[in-house]
Amino acid sequence: MGADISPFLLLDYAGPAEFEPSDSPRGVERHPHRGFETVTIVYQGEVEHGDNAGHSGKIGPGDVQWMTAGRGILHVEKHGREFSRRGGTLEMIQLWVNLPAKHKMAEPRYQEILDRNIPVAALDNGAGEVRVIAGEYDGTRGAARTFTPVNVWDARLRGGKKIDFALPEGFNASILVLKGGVLVNGAEEIRERELAFFTQEGDAVTIESAEDSTLLILSGEPIDEPIAGQGPFVMNTPEEIRRAIDDYRTGKF
Ligand code: MN
Repeated sequence: MGADISPFLLLDYAGPAEFEPSDSPRGVERHPHRGFETVTIVYQGEVEHGDNAGHSGKIGPGDVQWMTAGRGILHVEKHGREFSRRGGTLEMIQLWVNLPAKHKMAEPRYQEILDRNIPVAALDNGAGEVRVIAGEYDGTRGAARTFTPVNVWDARLRGGKKIDFALPEGFNASILVLKGGVLVNGAEEIRERELAFFTQEGDAVTIESAEDSTLLILSGEPIDEPIAGQGPFVMNTPEEIRRAIDDYRTGKF
């Protein structure tokens, strides 16, 4: 966790990994969260979710789940039942997006954003496309509702193309290469499974793709507040963390 990735707290890239058929779906049993949002992006396979605020759903390739833990949620995250029975490849990303102090105790919310509802912007010169999961890309508004300005772009670039991505001034930005490889600003090579961070100066990055590439491009307005994090709770002060643990233990979630 650091000021230079705010409002993002964590990025977990799982897979691609092969799973044998199984009658009991793998995953994480019921656990709590408070004070931030979890965003799950599925590339391959299926993920099922269920929480104590009454939301549940199954998402597959191209789908996204944007969950606001807010004042507290208990949820289960597992491989889809059907997917488990068949076995196969799972590839997914989970992001943790921080909430500003005034929204940390917001009502829990669940946005199931299906592939078909995610706006797609074509890149110039047939260079590929950007699925705008959140925020905005070149006039195309993203699908997710967010509490602070956040851009989540799933970009697919064709090999041998060059693109200028405009990043809003003052935003932190990072690029994860899921597949392929790119050269940034003519200097920095980012290879498969590598993550690169950008400073808040300079409002454009030039990306050249040596081959067909899949990128996750994240940017957002930093939340300039103290962070106190412990396990599944991310608050502003140690006192609020103690309260979260206490509330969880006494069944107030
Ligand atoms: Mn979780």
